[in-house]
Formats: sequence, structure tokens, C-alpha cells
Amino acid sequence: MAMLKVVFTLDYEIHGNGEGSPYSLMVEPTQRLMDLFDNYGAKLTILADVSEILKFKEYFDEHGRDDYHYAEIIEQLRYALINGHDVQLHIHSSYTNSRLEKGKWCQDWSEYSLSELKYGRINEIIGVGKAFLEKELRVVKPDYKCFVFRAANWSMSPSLNICKALVENGIEIDTSVFKYGKRSGRVSFDYREAFSDTLPWPISVNNVCFRDPGGKLVEFPIYCENRQITSFLTPNRLFRVIQASFHKHKTYKLEGDSTTGNPSVKKGMLLKKVLTMILEKHAWKLDFNQCSGKQLVSGLKRIEKKYNNCEIDIPVVLIGHSKLFTKWNRKTLEPFLKYIARSPEKYMFASFGQFDLVNTYNCSLDN
Ligand SMILES: [Zn+2]
Repeated sequence: MAMLKVVFTLDYEIHGNGEGSPYSLMVEPTQRLMDLFDNYGAKLTILADVSEILKFKEYFDEHGRDDYHYAEIIEQLRYALINGHDVQLHIHSSYTNSRLEKGKWCQDWSEYSLSELKYGRINEIIGVGKAFLEKELRVVKPDYKCFVFRAANWSMSPSLNICKALVENGIEIDTSVFKYGKRSGRVSFDYREAFSDTLPWPISVNNVCFRDPGGKLVEFPIYCENRQITSFLTPNRLFRVIQASFHKHKTYKLEGDSTTGNPSVKKGMLLKKVLTMILEKHAWKLDFNQCSGKQLVSGLKRIEKKYNNCEIDIPVVLIGHSKLFTKWNRKTLEPFLKYIARSPEKYMFASFGQFDLVNTYNCSLDN
């Protein structure tokens, strides 16, 4: 019987538009989350946005005042490692050249999509991030290794340069892809053809969706299903929509967009959007902030049923965001943690270091 290894990944960052306090959006909720997890022996994998954290450090160094809670962030990441959780790399590259204006980090939109930058620049940003985490965290855990990556906005497309840069920097696992996902705009990707919605695969550098037995980077997809819009209606998701509406990105007109301004064209587009939303299926990620407790448990049961006859360990990668961990969310998450902890013969709380990449998933890693 397959053992389901449940990996809780947490994107650790402020609001996408550069607003918000790192204390209330990162430090405070993450501490509550770890306290809750510790009651059940659950493990958290914090995916720390190093580009932001480095700006908070820069501010501290320049002003001698820690208004962006840099010291508490580092202390928290070290605390996580000491207490059996994990910390790995997440990068919102648009922060690298950002400037602080009226308490808000104004980002460099030309560097919004890391995967679209030149190879040298991608390599540099990833190298800086990995070196930073390893320097700060080896203070408490000398054998700590940064080997897992998640791209901002899940964008690993185009794949070639970013995959090569990740391998070059000794990153072994990417966990950005979710099958059925598709976006076009500031970032563009299409993961509908991804190799699996659950099982890891060695990546083909030309397209992260495809399996290459000789690939040096392994994709651990965020677990996802293709579902109708009704599966998305939960109180937690409503909270996220409201929160996002208060911290919107500044809108900007896309070049060549001639439709803005014409009311009848606008109306038609809106109608098309609504119809698509209702009729089509959408990528439903196993999101421990936004799904209800019941949805999380039934999602896990579906995976269990599907892989019942498998002999290998099956990863179940969930996603969450520290800024979304509300007190209400604790009520929906706790029953799920209880459910997992009750059946140690079937389920196990895990981090990425607890998978045998070479023997289980036929990955030929030699770096
Ligand atoms: Zn992020």
C-alpha cells in the first residue's frame, strides 16, 4: 500500500503589490501556524521570498531601524529549522530593484517574471537567494541545504533558462507547477499537459511539463484537480478575494489593447468571462488556507483511492500563504491535521528531504 507523504508548503511574503507589514503578514501568522502544527507533529515547509527579505535587510542596514522586522524573520526561519520544519527558496524577482515609496515597495515590473529574464540575470538572482538562506540558516543547522524552489506566480515558463539556472545552482526540486493551470498576462504559462497532477517527474529543460528520464531537476507538482466553480465557494476563499481587493496591483494598459474604453466590447467580454467561469472547469489546488476542512480530507481520500495499489511513496503537496492564515482558517485546518495524524499507517507529515528522488522516481540526479 502506498504511503501518502503530506507536504505543507507556505509562501512567506507580504502582499503582491508591495503593501503590508511583514510582522502581521509573515511572522505572526507563521508562528501561530507552527504552534498548531507542533500539536500534531506536522511539518511546515516555508518558501521564503528572499528578494523581499533582502530589501527588509537593506532598509535595516541603511536606516538602523528594523521597521520591516528583518531580525524577527531570520529568527523565525531559524526557529522553524530547529523545530523540525523546513525553509526553502521562493523568489519574487520584481523586488530585487524595488524602491520604498510612502511605506510601499514599488517593484521593477520589467523583472516581474523571473523565467523571462536573461539567463545570466536569472542565475544571479537564484544564486544570491540560495547563498543567503544557506548562510543565515547554517548558523543553527550546519548541514542545511537549500535545494527546493518555487517560482513567484507559479511561472516556470519559458522553462529553458530558469531550469538551467536552477540546476546550475544545485537546486534539485521545483514545486511551482499545478496541472490544469493556465495564465496569460504579466506571467504566462500553460500546465494543462503537465506529466502528472500528483507524481513527481524529472523535468525536460525545454518544457517543465514534460518528463525527461535524464532530467536533473525534479518537479513536485502542487496537487490539483480540474473542478467546477462551485468547489471554489468557501468562506476562506471569500476572505482572500476581499483581502486582495484592498491590495490591488496598479493596473496598467497592455500595449496594443484597443478594447479598453468601448462599452459594448467591454460588456461582451465580461459576459464571455462569466460564462467561461460557470461552464468551464478550473484548476483547484489543494490550498490549506482556502479549502474547507471537509474539502481537504476528501481530496486526500481521492488521492489515496487513486494510488491504492502503488508501492511507492506518493507526495501530496499542499499550498498556503502566511498572510491568509486567519483564526477562522485554524478551525478548518485543524480537523485535517487531526485526520492525518490519526492514521500513521497510511499518512505521514513530510518535507522534501524525505523523498528518495533517485530510487523512487527514477531521477538521475548526480549534482
Ligand atoms: Zn509568492
